[in-house]
Amino acid sequence: DTNKGIILYLEGINVSFDNFKAINDLNLYIKQGELRCIIGPNGAGKTTMMDVITGKTKPQAGTAWFGQKLNLLTMDEPQISQSGIGRKFQKPTVFEALTVNDNLMIANAGKKTVWHTLRHRVNKIEQEQIDEILLLIGLMDMRHKYAAILSHGQKQWLELGMLLMQKPQLLLVDEPVAGMTTQEMDKTAELLNSLAGKHSLIVVEHDMDFVRQIAKTVSVLHQGSILAEGNMEQVQNNPKVIEVYLGQ
Ligand code: ADP
Repeated sequence: DTNKGIILYLEGINVSFDNFKAINDLNLYIKQGELRCIIGPNGAGKTTMMDVITGKTKPQAGTAWFGQKLNLLTMDEPQISQSGIGRKFQKPTVFEALTVNDNLMIANAGKKTVWHTLRHRVNKIEQEQIDEILLLIGLMDMRHKYAAILSHGQKQWLELGMLLMQKPQLLLVDEPVAGMTTQEMDKTAELLNSLAGKHSLIVVEHDMDFVRQIAKTVSVLHQGSILAEGNMEQVQNNPKVIEVYLGQ
């Protein structure tokens, strides 16, 4: 099986809005445990690509498989999310009126209602899972604080932690360091690097210094398809990539 070790397989994906091709014969193959960065100018199709993976947008043509051959194109958004694909949008959305610990707790509520979860608290095993994530995201000291008082960076880490409570196999992360301080960026790089291996990640990011810190492989999206792929140095020295970025 030539697809062994591939967790996400996109081939020949096409998405048109009216007569405009936002995604144009896109191929993307993500390996199990890989951390892939996607870069590309505004309008390149990065958001649309993420929307295809999460089922928000259905392509007019193409093939899309996830994990053990789940056909993403026949699944709706909730099914895809439950199958193990988590998405982190650029703006953090945490429950500010709850503590850090309770944010993680309700992220795992599943079929139980949020009210039931908060009233009856969680069992020991669930709290162990929460503690593990608190350590990972560096918020153990803040666990009893209201999320409202967290810094922007801390809110981003908390939201990542909330996603991790659902044990996703594949995490899609949109511009994680936008608005962060240099220190917060370094911590975010460390966090994302520590997730790779256990999870697969697709990170859309504009900050090249940050991309350099996390990605082994970078894919450059341009006019809806992959213009170049390789390590940071290969991609940066690619004449086609230079042309696209200088032309901006
Ligand atoms: P990126 O995230 O790389 O900036 P997008 O995926 O948001 O790019 O957009 C790719 C192109 O598709 C853009 O030209 C955008 O205007 C267009 N587009 C995206 N969504 C829609 C939509 N719902 N209707 C019409 N055009 C769209």
